[in-house]
Amino acid sequence: MPAAEILDGSALSKIVRAELKERVDRLRDRGVIPRLDVLVAAQDPASLSYVKMKRRWAEAAGIEGEAFEITEQTTQHELLAKIDELNRDSDVHGVLIQHPLPKHLDENEALMALGPDKDVDGITPQSLGRLVADLPGFRCATPLGIMRILDRYEIPLIGKRAIVIGRSVILGKPAALMLLQRHATVTIAHSRTENLPDLCREADILVAAVGRAEMVKGDWIKPGAVVIDAGYNKVEGRSGDVGDVEFESARQVAGWITPVPGGVGPMTVASLLSNAVDAAQAVLS
Ligand code: NAP
Repeated sequence: MPAAEILDGSALSKIVRAELKERVDRLRDRGVIPRLDVLVAAQDPASLSYVKMKRRWAEAAGIEGEAFEITEQTTQHELLAKIDELNRDSDVHGVLIQHPLPKHLDENEALMALGPDKDVDGITPQSLGRLVADLPGFRCATPLGIMRILDRYEIPLIGKRAIVIGRSVILGKPAALMLLQRHATVTIAHSRTENLPDLCREADILVAAVGRAEMVKGDWIKPGAVVIDAGYNKVEGRSGDVGDVEFESARQVAGWITPVPGGVGPMTVASLLSNAVDAAQAVLS
């Protein structure tokens, strides 16, 4: 079997961001300047660098916004007051609460305080409830990015067997629900799942959202399957990020596969920005 086709999230994200720029230009012509504000832990270098990248891409698309740094001194009361202020500010269309906030703060309470119409990252309980209930609302950026990759490459989902490895609130669970909504038959696997390689071998679509470098091996994959690797892992002695899938062995078996980097990551950011533009657009309706 020839090596798998690459699901090129980087290239797709460029197309999506160019489309967004056109939408933003039209919104600006009508007097709406899309704005995405961010709350981020000041002492977390990884979060700061993610936010910097998100802000850079937002600016390139014409989306304005500010990053508010949450410090070790910020109280829960101050955090909630800031969220309340952003909820009330009609010039702010979207708010991203970058995980993790400093440990002394209650992140769940912060998420619950954020208005669902501004939750462009789609991770508050209200947004997740809407997903479960098949109601319109903002969808989580990473699983939404995954669905967009599948759609743009016209991967059939109806009736297909899918496995999502990982059940986190921001990734595994919503990814499984989105696949279910599109009529895939979905298995959710986690750290207590038995016979994981055998379950994987039954899947037409495999989504790895585990956080364990190269855990999914080529011989876990059904020949011709679609493999989506959401993992970003640091491995000592290796530069850059490593996925949850062992790329070289997997690509010999899979039909389609996302690389790391250049797969799910860029489409996550593109999906966040597209939610922010949708939020700005909603002002006009
Ligand atoms: P997480 O909250 O740590 O969840 C990991 C999940 O994997 C848990 O449900 C866990 O099961 C499961 N798991 C752990 N070890 C396992 C094993 N040996 N076998 C089967 N399942 C196992 O992680 P996350 O936030 O969902 O992130 C997952 C990965 O995606 C990470 O590499 C992260 O960096 C990456 N990520 C990427 C993006 C992006 O933009 N591309 C965004 C977010 C996250 P239990 O529930 O039983 O513990």
